[in-house]
Amino acid sequence: MTELSLTFLGTGTSQGVPVIGCNCEVCSSDDLKDKRLRSSVLIQSPKANVVIDCGPDFRQQMLRTSCSKLDAVVLTHEHMDHVAGLDDVRPFNFITRKDMPVYCTDRVLQRLKVQFSYAFAEDKYPGSPGFDPHLIKANEDFVVGDQSWKAILARHGTWPVMGYRINDVVYLTDVNGISDESMDHLIGSKVLIVSALRKETHVAHYALSEAIVMAKKSKIPQVYFTHFSHSMGLHAMESKALPKGMTFAHDGLKISLS
Ligand SMILES: [Zn+2]
Ligand SMILES: [Zn+2]
Ligand SMILES: [Zn+2]
Repeated sequence: MTELSLTFLGTGTSQGVPVIGCNCEVCSSDDLKDKRLRSSVLIQSPKANVVIDCGPDFRQQMLRTSCSKLDAVVLTHEHMDHVAGLDDVRPFNFITRKDMPVYCTDRVLQRLKVQFSYAFAEDKYPGSPGFDPHLIKANEDFVVGDQSWKAILARHGTWPVMGYRINDVVYLTDVNGISDESMDHLIGSKVLIVSALRKETHVAHYALSEAIVMAKKSKIPQVYFTHFSHSMGLHAMESKALPKGMTFAHDGLKISLS
């Protein structure tokens, strides 16, 4: 079995934790587990380092994990807290002298062409980021580095969002619904990472109780929650109330998947 690990680079929702200007007990907490950059994970195999999502904290995340090699970026959807850091792939462009492979749906690519129009321009300014887009489709397999990935379609309010299964791990963020067909692709997985925004309901994200229901339905034995806001409460306190096998992820947490 391949040696595979996953590191949580960020576990916060779109504003991160602490939130600018907020003095709540979570934003004021000294516990490093209450400090959450925008959500992203680094998946490392012997041959490839891949990030899922590339939000506004991407540069800081690469530096603090000493990640000096990146082979691909895989995107879940086009919200800025998941793509805003794409300009910062430039150091990797300069090291490899190649465009960065970016795996996403056509819908996401069309948005990137608007948000990062300068990077797709014919007369690119020297030093602009270089992207090498690879289109993926819902519920289909694709290969990144030396791993087979499956894109799993889920719902994010009125938007589609892609979750991913790599070996026995499933990463599903910014979701508030998943079809039975997509759920079938989760069968047999050992680790589920799923977003849970807060305790109160939201139009486009699972509340914690909804994420717990979905996780139980999946029957995946080890569950990590991610992408949550300061209103979820203190990590140390809230962790005690979770069902067995379920944990709040925190920035820097690294899990072995082999
Ligand atoms: Zn998000
Ligand atoms: Zn706060
Ligand atoms: Zn989103």
